[in-house]
Amino acid sequence: MAGRLQGKRCFITAAGQGIGRATALAFAAEGASVIATDKDAGKLAGLEAAGIEARALDVLDDAAVASMIAAAGPLDVLFNCAGFVHQNTVLTCTNAEWDFAFALNVRAMWQTIRAALPGMLAKGGGSILNMASACSSVKGAPNRFVYGTTKAAVVGLTKSVATEYVAQGIRCNCLCPGTVDTPSLGERIAANAAAAGGVEAARNAFVARQAMGRLAKAEEIAALAVYLAADESAFVTGQAIVIDGGWTL
Ligand code: NAD
Repeated sequence: MAGRLQGKRCFITAAGQGIGRATALAFAAEGASVIATDKDAGKLAGLEAAGIEARALDVLDDAAVASMIAAAGPLDVLFNCAGFVHQNTVLTCTNAEWDFAFALNVRAMWQTIRAALPGMLAKGGGSILNMASACSSVKGAPNRFVYGTTKAAVVGLTKSVATEYVAQGIRCNCLCPGTVDTPSLGERIAANAAAAGGVEAARNAFVARQAMGRLAKAEEIAALAVYLAADESAFVTGQAIVIDGGWTL
């Protein structure tokens, strides 16, 4: 049986670990031709065994983004997964954190979309997926000032692109996960451990945010990405789709 992404050329940023990596594997399992990129080439190890093209790409490098997407040929799917979670408030956020968060979480998406769109338009269609978060325009979260601000911007960026190109076969949606068990979550748990009274307590605080009482698996977010990439979601565009185990209930 043909996979749901058979024949589709898909480009993913930050695919070395976490949700991006799980999505690269899920796309390939559905028959897609996948280009998985990450700033850290070492993290891409093992993907080629799954038939995935692995390439080092720092999405903060505009020229590299433009040339790699041009070299990839016309894309059917672009998944902007790269992002960073600062833990700060309006009072503790530094200017450097603000600038970095907007550069990585928002501006880099503009650069990849700008590079991929002409090929999609020439082909007559494409699906763009942007990684937002439930912490965004959907809801606030403590100690997530610049993160939530940038992810709200991703929702706006998504709706703008969707509106502009809806009549030309381009769809653009964003994913709004709750807390997902990924390597960078482990770093945030470690950073919070002292204040929380230990690693276990810090982890439990993240778990407790989801009404389901557990974290998401990266594969569960990848399944939503497959749906949004595939033709079965052909009538879905401009949406911020929440997948959060009940965090926003
Ligand atoms: P992660 O944070 O564990 O890994 C991020 C990956 O991005 C790493 O492989 C890293 O090398 C790569 N990366 C970092 N800077 C890069 C750059 N400049 N260019 C290219 N690659 C770069 O992965 P994750 O937790 O799955 O997060 C992925 C996305 O999902 C992020 O946008 C994050 O904000 C979002 N998200 C995560 C959660 C969560 O709880 N984990 C929840 C909601 C949204």
